[in-house]
Amino acid sequence: MNYQVLARKWRPHNFTEVVGQEHVVKSLINALQHNRLHHAYLFTGTRGVGKTTIARILAKAMNCENLHDANPCGVCKVCRDLDEGRFLDLIEVDDKVYLIDEVHMLSGHSFNALLKTLEEPPPHVKFLLATTDPHKIPVTVLSRCLQFNLKRLTPSQILAQMEFILHEEKITFETAALKLLARSADGSMRDGLSLLDQAIVFGNGKVASEDVNAMLGMVAEQPVEDLLTALARADAVTILDKINDIANTQSDFGEVLQQILQVLHRIALVQHLPTAIDPDFDTEMLTTLAALLSPEDVQLYYQIALIGQRDLDLAPDSRSGFEMLMLRMLTFKPVTDEPVTNKPASLAVAKTVAPPTTVTASTLPPVVATPVQQTSSSNDWASIITQLNLNGPGKALANDCALEYMDDKVCSLFIDSDRIRGALAEDMLQKALQAYRGTAIKLVFNSQKVALDTP
Ligand SMILES: [Zn+2]
Repeated sequence: MNYQVLARKWRPHNFTEVVGQEHVVKSLINALQHNRLHHAYLFTGTRGVGKTTIARILAKAMNCENLHDANPCGVCKVCRDLDEGRFLDLIEVDDKVYLIDEVHMLSGHSFNALLKTLEEPPPHVKFLLATTDPHKIPVTVLSRCLQFNLKRLTPSQILAQMEFILHEEKITFETAALKLLARSADGSMRDGLSLLDQAIVFGNGKVASEDVNAMLGMVAEQPVEDLLTALARADAVTILDKINDIANTQSDFGEVLQQILQVLHRIALVQHLPTAIDPDFDTEMLTTLAALLSPEDVQLYYQIALIGQRDLDLAPDSRSGFEMLMLRMLTFKPVTDEPVTNKPASLAVAKTVAPPTTVTASTLPPVVATPVQQTSSSNDWASIITQLNLNGPGKALANDCALEYMDDKVCSLFIDSDRIRGALAEDMLQKALQAYRGTAIKLVFNSQKVALDTP
């Protein structure tokens, strides 16, 4: 007996079996029950979300001899013919229903013929069209169709269907493995079930996380969890150990970084809204890490990881790039509950001020150097810093600066020309100043060779 692929074998045969797309199914059932069918339907959406499946069910329902609550019976001749039918681009049911798949592939000539028919539809003739690309369909045709846009399926919907099918097929599986497959399906049930087919073959009749990870060329979530836990504990030894492990498993560091970003995003959501926990992820890991890491840490790590994606390609090799990235997270780990010192200091800057060398926004009008004002002593700056609620690189940068002047539009800071500034630190400082002043403030740095007495 031939092996039938899961997507084909478990293709829904009636509206009740359709996964998701509730908005479409409900409208169609209503139309069937009240006998208010449109003469032309267009189903749009990405691949594998159920366009043709729903169109086929509707075609059956329009002709079924024995409808049950708007659902086709599945046993009459019309139902059986359509269920057993092969995957055809054009299906014709007793000259009454025409189902055209991938309708955007029609030639201009065929569209004209279709348009003529749609303009004056013969009574009792229905058109069911499906396409992944509605933009390629002439507006004249679109305007005569009732259009339904099918949504991508969520990983949870795909996961639930996979679990159902594997139970029915009596195939053992690990839920974590199905979660990986469901996420990789990228919203397409057909792609998800096709991956599941492969996983069953790959795992010799069972679906285990380790096999699925290997099959998808993915990194298990465990190293990501270990890395983030070690970061939270500022444990450099473990971090470097884990990186060594990852290198030994021949994993792609770019892929690990992607996963770190995904996990950090989920952690941030959980920290701000505990009910937002994503069931498609390892929920225990998310809860543990959300408690272990401070929200500031999570934001900082996310930012460093995001920018680090770009740097990874520039590094001599991806491993060293990744190591530097993790160590950067460790270096800039925000110091919380640090006793704030407001040491008095005097600003020792030459009176002839050089023009600003760096401007954070190109739209900034030229800033005329003004003499240091009485009110903007470094003493004030130190007290401003304490009110900025900065940490990590932003705070380090602020501490290396002295205030030249600040109004509602511009904050100009003296900085030692030897100090290397980072975009992240500048961004943190700019945002903090903006929040402090309550206005859109531009940050200007004025490099000084003179030794600054900074806070
Ligand atoms: Zn039937």
